[in-house]
Amino acid sequence: MKSHYRVVVIGGGVVGCSVLYHLAKLGWTDVALVERKALTSGSSWHAAGIFHALNADPNIAALQAYTIKLFKEIEAESGQNVGLHMTGGINVASAPERWEWLKAAYRIFQTMGIDTARLVGRDEIKAMWPLMDVSDVLGGLYDVNEGHIDTYGATYAYAGAARKRGATIIEQNRVLALNRKPGGWEVVTEKGPIACEHVVNCGGLWAKQVGLMAGLDLPVTPMEHHYLVTETIPEIAAMSSELPLIVDLEGFTYTRQEGKGLLVGLYEKNFKHWNMEGAPWDFGIELNQEDIDRIAPELEFGFRRFPCLQKAGIKKWVNGSFTFTPDGNPLVGPAPGVPNYWTACGVMAGFLQGGGVGLSLAEMMVNGEASTDIYGMDIARYGGWASNREYLRQTTGQFYSRRFVMTYPNEQLWAGRPLRTAPAYEAMTRNGMRWGAMWGLEIPLYVAPSKDFEETPTLKRSNAHDVVGAECRKTRESVGLLDTTGFSRYEVRGPKAQAWLDRVMASRLPGPGRCALAPMLSPSGKLRGDLSVFNWGDGTWWIMGSYYLRQWHMRWFQDHGEDGVSVRDISDDWVGFSLSGPKSRDVLEAAVRNADVSNQAFRFLGCRALDVGLTRARVGRLSVNGELGYEINVPASEHLTLYRTLKKAGADFGMVEIGFNAMLSLRIEKSFGLWLREFTQVYTPGETGLDRWIAFDKPGFIGRDAALKERDQGTAKRRLVTLEIAAGDADGSGWEPVWRDGKRVGYITSGAYGHTIGKSLAMALIDKEHAAVGTDLTAHVVGVERRAKVIAPSPYDPAGARMRI
Ligand SMILES: Cc1cc2nc3c(=O)[nH]c(=O)nc-3n(C[C@H](O)[C@H](O)[C@H](O)COP(=O)(O)OP(=O)(O)OC[C@H]3O[C@@H](n4cnc5c(N)ncnc54)[C@H](O)[C@@H]3O)c2cc1C
Repeated sequence: MKSHYRVVVIGGGVVGCSVLYHLAKLGWTDVALVERKALTSGSSWHAAGIFHALNADPNIAALQAYTIKLFKEIEAESGQNVGLHMTGGINVASAPERWEWLKAAYRIFQTMGIDTARLVGRDEIKAMWPLMDVSDVLGGLYDVNEGHIDTYGATYAYAGAARKRGATIIEQNRVLALNRKPGGWEVVTEKGPIACEHVVNCGGLWAKQVGLMAGLDLPVTPMEHHYLVTETIPEIAAMSSELPLIVDLEGFTYTRQEGKGLLVGLYEKNFKHWNMEGAPWDFGIELNQEDIDRIAPELEFGFRRFPCLQKAGIKKWVNGSFTFTPDGNPLVGPAPGVPNYWTACGVMAGFLQGGGVGLSLAEMMVNGEASTDIYGMDIARYGGWASNREYLRQTTGQFYSRRFVMTYPNEQLWAGRPLRTAPAYEAMTRNGMRWGAMWGLEIPLYVAPSKDFEETPTLKRSNAHDVVGAECRKTRESVGLLDTTGFSRYEVRGPKAQAWLDRVMASRLPGPGRCALAPMLSPSGKLRGDLSVFNWGDGTWWIMGSYYLRQWHMRWFQDHGEDGVSVRDISDDWVGFSLSGPKSRDVLEAAVRNADVSNQAFRFLGCRALDVGLTRARVGRLSVNGELGYEINVPASEHLTLYRTLKKAGADFGMVEIGFNAMLSLRIEKSFGLWLREFTQVYTPGETGLDRWIAFDKPGFIGRDAALKERDQGTAKRRLVTLEIAAGDADGSGWEPVWRDGKRVGYITSGAYGHTIGKSLAMALIDKEHAAVGTDLTAHVVGVERRAKVIAPSPYDPAGARMRI
């Protein structure tokens, strides 16, 4: 053990070993892993070792596919057998809606380039798995690249390959404390202190405590999990080949062959947390007592699905523990506000995801950014609120018990809600507003037509379709009122505020009393934000953007901070409403007594302080709906007053309350993109059309060289386009493949029904040679191929005249 390393990785489970391996592979070889006992002595030693392709987040599915490909590579590199059983695997569906979902998921796999998957019918499933009762099975999704590995072998293979590349592993050495030092950390271990520049928390079951060592309360908790292993089953012993892995989406079970018997694991509805504050430090290679009563319903289902289990003896029960986060995805990346502290923890499926997690974290550390869009597992997708113990208990429990249950895009889950509400929430609820959850905040969806109205969860258009349609039409005809608490707001002040914004934003900054769209780039020219900048003219600037990116953007602002400028997240302090539609000026005029808000006095993209009713508001003249519009921001304590004021002022102008669902439809008629859909951290300005807003002649902004290169060399190979789809009963939602003459030429980024123009619309990233307006294409929407055509952007009011009236 040396006294100094560039990086100390804490924890020698599969994830820590993968991080160590990938750091060394990317060239950082002065790295050490410190393990409390022997490698694998957390969750890793007793995992079932299965790996499969399916994940609700296509980006994570792609990283899972990377992990699966890596097993052979690390085996060859390390010389350690990983016990790979590439048996293939089938996700089986026995309910029509789940079968429909699998068919849609199969198409999304094609978008991600996972071409090894295919749909299989009941007979083929029976042929592959003769011992399964398939009487109610409708079909399945089969992938040859699924199976299981030896968990001990895989962990040691990562470790061995890392060692061969120069990394160090120090076992039987617990990390006791972390002390921040200039330029890095002092890692206090049982064997003495180690100085390093970076630490990585791969603490698995102890990640909570390893976080607290640096003052971080991570949203992660262990939970119990069972599987059983049977004695030899004679029918299996008689088989000449190994059975494929089965994930039973209705039965909450996964099943694979183990020796000449079976291994059956269960995700029970009656979940149980285990040591929410982290495992005890003296916890060894131990298991929990099995709790068969608790898992009985799922067990019974498994026994019906695989009748051979009814006669089989049970050789072993495993009730172990592993960690969960509120959405079940890992916590990866630099910890916001704690320099040089990185996390790769909360990894619920370390053997399935460990390779992708290790690669992404190492890329972030070595290259400054991951090569794929890992927002879905970025630690900065959560704020401090997610570590509330009750929130964590409810959300992790919900995730666990729904591990294999599909979530419909329009489905609202119960856990951890309502957590944060806008001050006008109760009043709006009384008026029928229905809510969804975003980053812990209740956001308005639509106003229900009656108290008893229940929206049906579906992949297709729901029974709220017409309700939302009416909100859209009313907005276009008169005026819609939208609660904009779910927008983020950052205040930028200080003598260097303007210079800082000029460096961080790629666009030209607005003059006093003006606002402007502002793309933000990384040094490599990838997108970091699709923001709006407001210059209030009094030395105060605001940045506004997507609410769920609050922590993610603040981390970026802090990482690029400088003396003489302060950036504050004021999203909890400032909230608001927007008015949009041709009559919105009339409503504003009725609410503002002593100011001229005429078109001449308050122009499109202007912003100013205004007294709206009794509130002291800051108002921007803009609208994401493509209409004359105003975003009215007020201190949170004045939100309810603003609501009442606008409701009263709007009564004579046919104003309706609308929700985000209407906004999502209205904005697509204008081809306005959204973050995580049209814009992500791996797309570029040239691909997405955001280059329109880049001030290429402005010196010194982050990402300028790369953006210039993309423009001058024409390196963007695809284009963001608008599609009209002959969709029938469903609209695109994102990731569906788009085809031309049987060749995959791109994919949908988001879709919605355009209620004003009466067409199903989508935005899509298409290879540029197929992106011309008028090109005939097809797209799979909910698994069904439908005609699609590239149309000119902004099918509603292409000239943008209505925003300027
Ligand atoms: C019953 C069961 C079945 C499972 N089945 C599967 C499966 O089929 N497929 C799959 O992909 N996943 C499965 N998992 C999950 C899988 O086991 C975990 O996702 C994975 O092991 C997590 O690995 P890790 O490295 O993050 O954490 P861990 O394995 O918990 O490793 C963390 C390590 O950090 C060390 N450590 C912690 N604190 C310190 C400290 N202060 N100083 C030094 N060392 C420290 C610990 O000793 C430990 O070795 C299963 C889990 C269970 C319980």
